[in-house]
Amino acid sequence: MNLQGKHAVVTGGARGIGKAVCLALAAAGADVVVNFSGSEQAANEVAEACRALGVRAVALRADVSNADEAQGLIDAAVKEFGSVDILVNNAGITRDGLLMRMSEDDFDAVLNTNLKGAFHCMKAACRPMMKQRSGRIINISSVVGVRGNAGQANYAASKAGLIGMSKSVAKELAGRGVTVNCIAPGFIETAMTDVLPDAVKEKILTEIPMAKLGQAEDVANAAVYFASNEAGYVTGQVLCVDGGMAM
Ligand code: NDP
Repeated sequence: MNLQGKHAVVTGGARGIGKAVCLALAAAGADVVVNFSGSEQAANEVAEACRALGVRAVALRADVSNADEAQGLIDAAVKEFGSVDILVNNAGITRDGLLMRMSEDDFDAVLNTNLKGAFHCMKAACRPMMKQRSGRIINISSVVGVRGNAGQANYAASKAGLIGMSKSVAKELAGRGVTVNCIAPGFIETAMTDVLPDAVKEKILTEIPMAKLGQAEDVANAAVYFASNEAGYVTGQVLCVDGGMAM
């Protein structure tokens, strides 16, 4: 897949899946804005690694749960590169707990980052994309948004919400050459899953037909596909990258 001349914004691009997406897009030739909220040094290192692949790359701070900061991120990307062709809404957090013990703050924090963050960034990016009559929006959902998961009512709501929101926006933007798709990763080895107790990891493994956790690069490869010209007739889809877990 050749993404030369394309300009990408990846939210939460400093580490984990976002970092792998930045590097994969850069390897395919795209210029990359590496967004971060707290991990400045790591984001600068990812931008440096992208530049080493021969593309332009910058690290930009923005808390995507804040509408003004999300708008500022997209504006800064357009200023830097001239356009935004690819938006990957990857930023996400967890605040796990059983429903009966889940605080409203924990519910709101997860929805504000995972769902509203993608809303803010899509809203900011759709105008320039519609104007140029092309664009690729890729939202990182989760297998948990498809199947649910005990202890993650807030996270599952945010990730299921992303799927419904993506399909709706896909219908709104289809006529303007802008595609909107979701990737629903299963359990991928990152900081987010490192914190799970071994017993939980072992139980998860029993639910994965391929009997192994995925790698961030598995998700990044799917993102490159959705970003490519080759995926131009694909919109409103949810691709599970999960070793067969959601079957
Ligand atoms: P990590 O915890 O490793 O990384 C999360 C990223 O999100 C960080 O780069 C962080 O940036 C960023 N982030 C968090 N809050 C904000 C915010 N308000 N504004 C901007 N960036 C923010 O997670 P993963 O790499 O594992 O997950 C990436 C995405 O994939 C998430 O949406 C997650 O829900 C999803 N996912 C992950 C799975 C997994 O098994 N790992 C499975 C299914 C989905 P910073 O460090 O700068 O704060």
